[in-house]
Amino acid sequence: MEKRKEIVMSGIRPTGFLHLGNYFGAVRNYVRMQEDFECYFMVADLHSLTTHPDTKELKANVHRVLAENIACGLDPDKVALYCQSHIYETAELYLYLNMLAYKGELEKTVTFKDKVRQHPDNVNAGLLTYPVLQTADIILHRALYVPVGKDQEQHLEMARNFANRFNHRYGDVFPEPQAFNYGSELVKVPSLDGVGKMSKSENQYATLYLSDDDELIRKKVMKAKTDSGPTVPGSPKPDYIENIFLLMNLVSSEEVIKKFEEDYNQCTIRYGDMKKQLAEDMVNFISPIREKAESIRNDERYLQEVMEKGAAKARISAKATMELVREAIGLKYF
Ligand code: ADP
Repeated sequence: MEKRKEIVMSGIRPTGFLHLGNYFGAVRNYVRMQEDFECYFMVADLHSLTTHPDTKELKANVHRVLAENIACGLDPDKVALYCQSHIYETAELYLYLNMLAYKGELEKTVTFKDKVRQHPDNVNAGLLTYPVLQTADIILHRALYVPVGKDQEQHLEMARNFANRFNHRYGDVFPEPQAFNYGSELVKVPSLDGVGKMSKSENQYATLYLSDDDELIRKKVMKAKTDSGPTVPGSPKPDYIENIFLLMNLVSSEEVIKKFEEDYNQCTIRYGDMKKQLAEDMVNFISPIREKAESIRNDERYLQEVMEKGAAKARISAKATMELVREAIGLKYF
């Protein structure tokens, strides 16, 4: 009998436009993993309600995230590509896991503390228990690998804790989920102003979106922070220069990167030229994805089919897990 493939799960919130960080932290890995693993990738619409209670834009954003994922190379026939809210079993597992998650540990989560600072008027219980819902999403499919960016490291550690706690109390049902990246480390794509990471809803002028038009990409890249250049050969790079090299490493050719590294080390680098080159390489990288995503986004019938097919696959896996969960907890009375 053929060995069952290892299981992969991940998600992206429909809170805005996908950006280069989502691509290199997450979607690029999804596209590679779809060939070798059993994959569940979802649009995390329930998660978005914790910070974006106004749902006027939600449908358009869900369609956009689906279209952008497909435009990046995700194949809905190879993976389960679905919406979180279509799988009701998630809410049930979330409820059980909430009994195993403690207020103190949830309050210490870095992303929770950040969100409290950003939305002091909306510190809701969903925000506090975000890592619990995320754990439910992952272990609902008994996933082993979770392709995510570096910002998700702590949440994955919490997911392992909750899964282990469940196993310890009720018996072994879940594997320990691991954060995954094909490279050696998880990726963090920095914002162009050198402050924090590229992000869907913050820092929009310092974030490159997969939907940005060519002129906007050029404008954003040309505004990235630089200085007058090194004066001592071989000096270390300041963070904001390191960031430009990092972005170049994502989209430019090896020769181009080598040339600017040498220029930097010999103190002959011209940042204007470097940014022009980076801008063109970004345009070449982003524009085909943007164009493809636009045409998919306008095909609502196709997107509906994708969502229905994805949910049907995800439900099979979710139902099988929940049978085991209810039995393990002792919720079977006849
Ligand atoms: P955002 O923070 O932009 O709203 P999400 O929370 O929906 O994005 O995260 C979707 C995926 O993209 C996650 O796996 C996350 O780790 C990854 N990601 C988000 N921003 C970055 C970034 N700047 N660099 C690397 N990965 C990122």
